[in-house]
Amino acid sequence: MAEAIGLKVDPPRFWDPADLRQETDRIFDVCHSCRLCFKFCGSFPLLFELIDEKTETLRRDYLEAHPEVAAAAARRREEAAAAPPPPEEEHGEVGVTFGDELPELTAHVRDLADGEIDRVVDLCFQCKLCYPNCPYTPPHEFAIDFPRLLLRWKAHRVRRRGVPLKTRLMRDTALIGKSASLVPGLANWSLRNPLVRRVMATVARIHPEKVMPTYYGETFPRWWRRHRPNLESLQPPREGIEPATPVKVVLFSTCVVDYNDPDCGKAAVHVLEHNGIEVVRPAQQVCCGMPFLDEGDLDAAANRLRKNVDALLPWVERGHAVVVPSPSCSLMLREELPQLVATERAARLAASTHDLNEYLYRFAREGRLKRDFQRRFAKIRYHVPCHIRVQNVGIRGRDLLRLVADEVEVVQECSGHDGTWSMHVDHFKDSLRWGKKAFDGMRGLEEETCTLTCSDCGLAALHIRQGSGSSCVHPVMALAHAYGFDIGAPGQFDSKPVTP
Ligand code: SF4
Ligand code: SF4
Ligand code: SF4
Repeated sequence: MAEAIGLKVDPPRFWDPADLRQETDRIFDVCHSCRLCFKFCGSFPLLFELIDEKTETLRRDYLEAHPEVAAAAARRREEAAAAPPPPEEEHGEVGVTFGDELPELTAHVRDLADGEIDRVVDLCFQCKLCYPNCPYTPPHEFAIDFPRLLLRWKAHRVRRRGVPLKTRLMRDTALIGKSASLVPGLANWSLRNPLVRRVMATVARIHPEKVMPTYYGETFPRWWRRHRPNLESLQPPREGIEPATPVKVVLFSTCVVDYNDPDCGKAAVHVLEHNGIEVVRPAQQVCCGMPFLDEGDLDAAANRLRKNVDALLPWVERGHAVVVPSPSCSLMLREELPQLVATERAARLAASTHDLNEYLYRFAREGRLKRDFQRRFAKIRYHVPCHIRVQNVGIRGRDLLRLVADEVEVVQECSGHDGTWSMHVDHFKDSLRWGKKAFDGMRGLEEETCTLTCSDCGLAALHIRQGSGSSCVHPVMALAHAYGFDIGAPGQFDSKPVTP
């Protein structure tokens, strides 16, 4: 039985190049036979194509070297064409058969050069959808973990070659956010200026047409420092329910909310406090490390994760649950943290972390989420991000939105964004192709009326806006608005008052 090494960096075999190559050959060979994941991204089709091309070449070379085999096959084909087909094959095609003369000529992954594997790796945008789709993930004896194998491959590459400058310029989202929020007008103007974008395309390899995030002078951390808690009373649980959800949370607010979507953070705080849930936000928290992990810089990702363990775990020990309003970041703390930082403290933090919607839904299940909504939406279209799907916690954004809308339509397709992958000049066009189903779904049909579009993922929302023109907000924004909080831009929400 194969052992799943994933991103467990401590065993010496993790950094052994021969072991990596052996594991890559093993996993890619299983995928090549299975082929189930051909539709998710460019990595699988390229892998299959490379091996199939090599098989084709092997056969062609063999036939060129053994003309008697080709001649025998041609003869058999002529004979088959001349003979009347058996009745059951009347409509079948007459194929070329090589019979016993042709040895088994199938290429294997071991025939691929490292450079060819690099190409497969670089088309992966870490949506992770191939993992829950795969019947052979651990504890199956094949122990297939395709996304983490590709990250391990990248990690080896980074160890050998270092991180390229263009990647360094793009990946420190917290540093970029902090700097841009000092001069938000200039930052936003620059990101929309065609000349600046041409320079960025050359220096940082960011595609000039990619819609970029907006930066704000009042970031979420700045707002939080001014915020005076407004903790309301707790609603008692439904009769017969023994409540288990903590009523104190530590908010891991994430770079994307801190710098690009501060309203989402404010909405989360309003909704939590309105429901009597105490919120803390330790200032020592840092980026979850996902952009570093995606580039294969495991040391940089693990350093950030360790800092977050130090910042958040003391609150967990005081009974707080960690809540995260961004699916990629909650996935990082829950799934990748225990792999990259193999300590008991890290495991405890991972086990106490919840996506914000999942946490609120649990609270609602206990009957403790207040229903004193002031406003209601007619129809909401909701995009389920892939990084929520792979957490296997259910579609809780939809379940919460049903409390404040007459109808919720679910779009369960990848936006094709993922971290910085879609921004890159080499991947931008492909990312629009992979996101097309999500864009079409979120755009909906012309005759349909939809009063709000939502996604839990701020980056997916950006790409959906690029591909469909629909502006999405996090479901917690819809809840905050429905409770009557003054959130979002004036006139942003098309809702109706709840009539008693
Ligand atoms: S990841 Fe799993 S399901 Fe997908 S192609 Fe490979 S073996 Fe098949
Ligand atoms: S993680 Fe997503 S992008 Fe990467 S190989 Fe799997 S399906 Fe493709
Ligand atoms: S939808 Fe969001 S979470 Fe899913 S792959 Fe795309 S960017 Fe990542």
